[in-house]
Amino acid sequence: MQLPREVIVGNGTIEQVANISRKLGFTKSALVIAGSKTNDIAGKTVRELLEDRKMEVNTFLVETATIKDVETVEERIRTLKPEIVFGVGGGTKIDVAKCSSARQAIPFISVPTTASHDGIASPLSSIKGSGTPYSVLAQAPLAIIADTNIIMQAPWRFAVSGCADVIAKLTAVKDWKLAHEERNEYYGAYAASLALMSARLVIESADLIGEKSEEGIRVLIEALISCGVSMSIAGSSRPCSGSEHLFSHSLETIRPDCSLHGERCGVGTIMMAFLHGANWKQVKKTLEKLEAPASASDLGVDKEEIVRALELAASLRPERYTILHKMNLRYDGYGRLAKTTGVI
Ligand SMILES: [Zn+2]
Repeated sequence: MQLPREVIVGNGTIEQVANISRKLGFTKSALVIAGSKTNDIAGKTVRELLEDRKMEVNTFLVETATIKDVETVEERIRTLKPEIVFGVGGGTKIDVAKCSSARQAIPFISVPTTASHDGIASPLSSIKGSGTPYSVLAQAPLAIIADTNIIMQAPWRFAVSGCADVIAKLTAVKDWKLAHEERNEYYGAYAASLALMSARLVIESADLIGEKSEEGIRVLIEALISCGVSMSIAGSSRPCSGSEHLFSHSLETIRPDCSLHGERCGVGTIMMAFLHGANWKQVKKTLEKLEAPASASDLGVDKEEIVRALELAASLRPERYTILHKMNLRYDGYGRLAKTTGVI
């Protein structure tokens, strides 16, 4: 198990960046990976705070998370030899920092500027062009510094997407249990419980989160971090990624850059909960309460694209047994599923 050693969530926690760095034994050099926007929002602050402590800091900006970006950052790491890599941003920047630092065997610290998915704390990274449309194991962040003040300034859509990514654990855990029962796959009750508890907490706190209060955003961030930790405990994405994620990945390949990861996972969770015989209406109601997408039109995709994505989902990752593999529906069956649940 590889777990974060320091997790700091709260208003103004970015100010702690140099203290945390020193506490973990990094006093000489660091490389900050950020995007041009997230560098303005938080990357420059991280750099200044570290430089105030006489650390040598370099910044490298990335805008996408492709295998080429990872290789370029790896080259920077080999040249600059930093003690520690900081990933400052939402999904893509943290993914690049996580993957490149892992491949160069140096630790990384996660400084999320949004709460849009659980990658901010997970040991997995999602890299385009790596041959897999889903996340693969990289390394867990050594520390997570989540400043609620910064995260609350991000567009609200990101937080809503993060909520949906946590709610998705309801069906991810059911799929994992199914694989254990029917395919004798390893199942970790502790990791599963942690992911499930996070989902339940976000559902219970939907009103609080909807108020856009600091307390609400804190619940969400802690839930996302707990999901990340559950993956570290399991040693895979199993507790957090099941059939609903397969649907999300396949819809993304059919209609790239149209919706956020968590938004697609939320819609997937409605349909997969139905297949599992679970309370799909509660999932749908919660998503609607949060004003998260709950249908094809909310996601900005055609009805037919939803059905095609469902059809493609099971073949995307044959080794990851889920309810989709068990049911083995055909095009018409998927159409009925999407209609019955009001997705199309
Ligand atoms: Zn996810």
